[in-house]
Amino acid sequence: MQNDPRSHGLWELTAPPAPQTQTLSGPMEADVVVVGGGFTGFSAALHLAERGTKVVLLEGREIGFGGSGRNVGLVNAGMWTMPDELPGVLGQLYGDRLLDLLGNAPKVVFELVQKHAIDCEINPAGTLHCAIGRSGLEELEARAEQWSRRGAPVTLLDAAETARRVGTDAYAGSLLDMRAGTIQPLAYVRGLAKAAIAAGVQVFTASPVTAAERSGSRWTVKTERGSVSADWVVVATNAYTVAPWAEVRAELVHLPYFNFATTPLSPALQKKILPGREGAWDTAEILSSFRYDRLGRLVFGSVGALRGTGTAIHKAWARRALKKLFPEIGEIAFEAEWYGNIGMTADNLPRFHRLAPNVIGFSGYNGRGIAPGTVFGKVLARHIAGELTEGDLPLPVTDPMAQSFRPIREGYYEVGAQLAHLVQARI
Ligand SMILES: Cc1cc2nc3c(=O)[nH]c(=O)nc-3n(C[C@H](O)[C@H](O)[C@H](O)COP(=O)(O)OP(=O)(O)OC[C@H]3O[C@@H](n4cnc5c(N)ncnc54)[C@H](O)[C@@H]3O)c2cc1C
Repeated sequence: MQNDPRSHGLWELTAPPAPQTQTLSGPMEADVVVVGGGFTGFSAALHLAERGTKVVLLEGREIGFGGSGRNVGLVNAGMWTMPDELPGVLGQLYGDRLLDLLGNAPKVVFELVQKHAIDCEINPAGTLHCAIGRSGLEELEARAEQWSRRGAPVTLLDAAETARRVGTDAYAGSLLDMRAGTIQPLAYVRGLAKAAIAAGVQVFTASPVTAAERSGSRWTVKTERGSVSADWVVVATNAYTVAPWAEVRAELVHLPYFNFATTPLSPALQKKILPGREGAWDTAEILSSFRYDRLGRLVFGSVGALRGTGTAIHKAWARRALKKLFPEIGEIAFEAEWYGNIGMTADNLPRFHRLAPNVIGFSGYNGRGIAPGTVFGKVLARHIAGELTEGDLPLPVTDPMAQSFRPIREGYYEVGAQLAHLVQARI
């Protein structure tokens, strides 16, 4: 994408093509203009169009250019925050509502994929959150107990069962979550875009919104060569926000995350390593993740940016760490490498903002945006269609709060990840 093999990597090499789109030119009228072409924007647009609303979606670059086309593809349930802590942070009403919504969110993704026959390597085989050491296991024991009490199909696996499922004895145990699974993320967002277009949404790419003006009860958003007037504006630009809603970006600290995709593993290796094809990640502070794609390539990732000195450091680390985890892999080649920026909020929870009257959006998914982006987009559509009042939403309205020392913290993440990967072959 954009001639950069390190932006979308394997996903761009293997996704079905994006639907044909044009750049916006001239004035247009709509009921709702959606700004941002990722999971949130396309889910909102699709669900609005299905309700008979006239929608125009404007994407600054290409469909899935942001986090939606670059991520690991773990379709997770819930957030990082412990289930029992959410009511304490958000209050009982919002805490319970958010837990219900996000706990069931992977199911919404799987149903949407089926309904629109989206070809995106969907695999609802569950995920394995793998424990590093005693402290990792204690964290997972607490998660297992708290989700089980809420009726979620999660199981704490011991070290022996984890070793059988993952193919390494590096972990003290794991949490199997059967609500979750894996997806080819760029294929998914392109599929959502096709479904939205089929439902009547007009999609324009290479059309960054540069300004938004209110006239009477309507908004006019402007691009270099065109404009859209609408009653509502959905701001779905999240961690990749470029003006005019810079406050959405200022609230998020960018955490870089990279992935390497191996060549397809042999059938014998695929029987040994993750034979159940769950998505997996670990409890380390600088975490690692791994999963298969459809052809049996292992996608292996961790914190860091593949630019400058980071490229060589993280690649060398990935080779060492993979070999340490799965020695039988040997000297395997990488077919693709890419990275993106995760948008982290101060408390690791997402936000709902009303940036101005009738200008609304969700953001700040903290590296868990496939299922949340999909359900939050649907919630936005239902709210605009009058099915949910503002009081019915899963999060309270908050004003964006700029994070202090953001550039310094972003630099710290990038350099810190290099240092960590330089000095250790983790796990
Ligand atoms: C490397 C990485 C790994 C991740 N792994 C996972 C994972 O395994 N599981 C998971 O659930 N989540 C994961 N995430 C998080 C997830 O990808 C994001 O939370 C999700 O994609 C956010 O979707 P979105 O639609 O809200 O925003 P995005 O997908 O970021 O879309 C925002 C779009 O807005 C566009 N835009 C910005 N400004 C303008 C403007 N002015 N005018 C028009 N368009 C504009 C951008 O070009 C972009 O395409 C990961 C993220 C990254 C980066």
